[in-house]
Amino acid sequence: MMAEKPHMNLAVIGHVDHGKSTFVGRLMFETGAVPAHLIEKYKAEAKEKGKESFAFAWVMDTLKEERERGVTIDISHKRFDTDKYYFTVVDCPGHRDFVKNMITGASQADAAVLVVAAPDGVMAQTKEHVFLSRTLGINQLIVAINKMDAAEYSEDRYNEVKKEVSQLLGMVGFKAEDVPFIPTSAFEGDNITKSSANTPWYTGPALLECLNNLTVPSKPDTLPLRIPVQDAYTISGIGTVPVGRVETGIMKKGQKVTFMPSGATGEVKSIEMHHEEWDQAVPGDNIGWNVRGIGKNDVRRGDVCGPAEKPPSVAEEFTGQIVVLQHPSAITVGYTPVFHCHTAQTACTLMAINKKLDPKSGQVKEENPTYIKAGDAAIVTIKPTRPMCIEPVSEIPQLGRFAIRDMGMTIAAGMCMSVTQKK
Ligand code: GDP
Repeated sequence: MMAEKPHMNLAVIGHVDHGKSTFVGRLMFETGAVPAHLIEKYKAEAKEKGKESFAFAWVMDTLKEERERGVTIDISHKRFDTDKYYFTVVDCPGHRDFVKNMITGASQADAAVLVVAAPDGVMAQTKEHVFLSRTLGINQLIVAINKMDAAEYSEDRYNEVKKEVSQLLGMVGFKAEDVPFIPTSAFEGDNITKSSANTPWYTGPALLECLNNLTVPSKPDTLPLRIPVQDAYTISGIGTVPVGRVETGIMKKGQKVTFMPSGATGEVKSIEMHHEEWDQAVPGDNIGWNVRGIGKNDVRRGDVCGPAEKPPSVAEEFTGQIVVLQHPSAITVGYTPVFHCHTAQTACTLMAINKKLDPKSGQVKEENPTYIKAGDAAIVTIKPTRPMCIEPVSEIPQLGRFAIRDMGMTIAAGMCMSVTQKK
């Protein structure tokens, strides 16, 4: 096999209709990931269906459908290359469960492109996605102020939106001055791979150069092995094959592993990725693996696989630091929404609100408040209604982040500070 370029997982985030799909389509097209004849074919199809203006979004959907037929895992990965890296786009633009996917998928993103439409500026989901990216540990961000063609390529409008976005970034703790901003039109292809004559006032790099300027985070392969289970299949002649993505550590053939919460333990018989067998798997690998002596009922989505000598921790209770994004009224003790943590979805009860914090400085504002509401940060005690794997972020950050969902909304997101393990 040829030596591959370094790999990066990229999330494309932003408010609905701000052009994320079009943006990814354009990027794939201009970097040669989609052959020109296919684009022409899809464009013609789009025109026939009266959706000409959706041409690139159309390409994205078609690619997604084609891919979905052959893939078993629920995140459709799209690939494109720059001269320096190869990227997979880990979000599913237009996906209904986008936020949920951000938690299980984009939390694995190494960087994010935030798309903000110039005519609209910052909107509800712009805030939600920026906030989630930060909480989920995405530290590298690029902002594309998109649809510049629909804002007459106005420098003034660009600066207005840039200011608005910078304020938002500052609020959640990004250093806006370190974040590149680019005026783009995904539609027309301005400043995507090369500088556009339509924005002579913009002297910064095009998107492609900003992507090349990202840095590859080091692989967390010295941490204990953790693989959240995405699904488990029964394959005749082989047995139970869980699939999932290695978050931390290294798994080797022959190693003794334990699935939690069930505690089922066995030896790794085989590791498979891209229909090939491997002797080991490292962080970022999407694998299926077979364990001797593990039955179909011993492992399910949301479980975590780890070394038998250091199995994943199962929380009786845990303390979390959370930020409330939105809630129609107030959150009090006894509230039991669904927690999304790695691949697990578990109803958890708020047992105590220990401290209210200043969301910016983290300083304690109030001890034992009776309620918290949108905009508040807090330290809380949480009790899962059934066994759930979670780890303190200080030990295994990849397994310590969660989002709280209720009523079809992301209510809050947070990180686990400490775990009281189930005996
Ligand atoms: P998403 O929901 O964020 O994925 O947005 P889409 O990519 O589906 O785009 C929503 C609409 O905006 C579609 O009608 C696109 O054709 C349009 N659009 C996307 N990018 C641009 C752009 O750069 N300029 C203009 N004028 N329209 C755009």
